[in-house]
Amino acid sequence: GFEMDTAFFAAWIEESARSVAAGKERLTDLDAAIGDADHGSNLDRGFTAVVRALAVKEPDTPAALLTVVGTTLIRKVGGASGPLYGTAFREMGRALGDLGDTAEVSPGELCAALEAGLAGVRRLGSAAEGDKTMVDALAPAVRALRRALEEGSEPREAAAAAAAAAREGAEATIPMRARRGRASYLGERSVGHEDPGAASTALILTALHTVAAR
Ligand code: ADP
Ligand code: MG
Ligand code: MG
Repeated sequence: GFEMDTAFFAAWIEESARSVAAGKERLTDLDAAIGDADHGSNLDRGFTAVVRALAVKEPDTPAALLTVVGTTLIRKVGGASGPLYGTAFREMGRALGDLGDTAEVSPGELCAALEAGLAGVRRLGSAAEGDKTMVDALAPAVRALRRALEEGSEPREAAAAAAAAAREGAEATIPMRARRGRASYLGERSVGHEDPGAASTALILTALHTVAAR
């Protein structure tokens, strides 16, 4: 069946880095509306550092790679999103480690890892769905992936469903009022803008689909 090796995960991260770099200005513009105008530059700095770290020495397993990604993001991104994304990737790595730290990962194992990543974000940030955060993109994406795999979809279709759910989830943050993070200080004035972290999560899940479809 469809198995994902370390090179697959490296490709996902590289595609995410490309996408974040291309979307840097849009992410920063979104953050300018309801935050402090640094989300694009924060994340671009982090993913640039991640790609550099992986080029120096590509880790041996998907679990080890995701752990390096998370650790580097925590160190380089800063702000609210650095620890949150860093935790998401570190928890993904930890979950795959618990599943045996194998050289290849099945779609079901990837899904379990993403569920662990989401749980880590929720634990650290205490955001519920509807609070206008990255959780509003990540939670529906993980749910869509799980559902698609359970229904017997091909991994590529399942990744497409997850990416679409993340993009829809990000768009659905527009009418929400922020209850977590910097945007929550704006209260009602946060309504009418897409959450930057939800937008970047949609880029990262779309990158996963792009790489799965190759
Ligand atoms: P900062 O707000 O510190 O400048 P960023 O601009 O890099 O950090 O990231 C902002 C994004 O972080 C928000 O758009 C939101 O998606 C996410 N975020 C902030 N606080 C939380 C939280 N408690 N839980 C989940 N996500 C959060
Ligand atoms: Mg910001
Ligand atoms: Mg900031």
